[in-house]
Amino acid sequence: MKITFYGVRGSIPVSSKETQKYGGNTSCLLLEADDKILIFDAGTGIRQLGEDLINDERDIYLFFSHYHWDHIQGLPFFKPLYNPKRTIYLLSHYLADDASTVFKQMVSPYFPVTQDKIQAQVTVLPLQNNGRLNIGSLNISTCALNHPDGGTAYRIDTDEGSFAYVTDSELLPPKTVSTTWEQWVRFLQNVDLLVHDAMYIDEELSHIHGWGHPLVSQVQRLARDANVAKLVLFHHDPKRTDKQLEAILANTQQWIKKQHPRCKVTLAKEKDSYQVT
Ligand SMILES: [Zn+2]
Ligand SMILES: [Zn+2]
Repeated sequence: MKITFYGVRGSIPVSSKETQKYGGNTSCLLLEADDKILIFDAGTGIRQLGEDLINDERDIYLFFSHYHWDHIQGLPFFKPLYNPKRTIYLLSHYLADDASTVFKQMVSPYFPVTQDKIQAQVTVLPLQNNGRLNIGSLNISTCALNHPDGGTAYRIDTDEGSFAYVTDSELLPPKTVSTTWEQWVRFLQNVDLLVHDAMYIDEELSHIHGWGHPLVSQVQRLARDANVAKLVLFHHDPKRTDKQLEAILANTQQWIKKQHPRCKVTLAKEKDSYQVT
């Protein structure tokens, strides 16, 4: 199972000398396993991914964490949508509307190319009631995000190993809790690779409490409690420079070294790949 990052930024894309090392595109990940293509979120990073898949004929499974703008805004620029030979399955869960709602952004006066120009075979795939699904030998399970308007965290288990994608989720929110700390610990137990929203730091808590994003200090504790083998900090705040991200990483690595030494921590970076074996 191979995971490649195409977009790592939260909220809005950024472009500057100060952010170019880790990248400025919004959320998009490619997972290749068992001759399948899974894509997590369609932020601006999906444009380049579409270019890279242009000569690839495998079916595409496109998973949405939720429909906030930074997770869907690249979709109209995803070239496989306009190829009649492509089959694209859409998935989401714990949300009021099914995943076809993402095409509502392709409407006048907001976008000139309308939904009827899509030529790929697009199908919304329902998850079973318990939020599970099998695609070939991939076992997919889900968990509800603690985020305004809701959303889905995904875990993929295969014979090779396990991967989880949790973005836009406040671990200890002030009001409504869809998934408790203990439930997250169970959901992520022993996962080999965890990609987790790590948008804010402790000093920002008074300002951002209730916005639906965690503190890095909470994410590192969760990685320890759930016995995660590799943690990738994701959904970087648009104002965070490469230097600031590296300072956050250094703090996290120091903490993890003492608290959960078998865990490796890195920063999500565009075009970086991780192999789960
Ligand atoms: Zn987001
Ligand atoms: Zn969001």
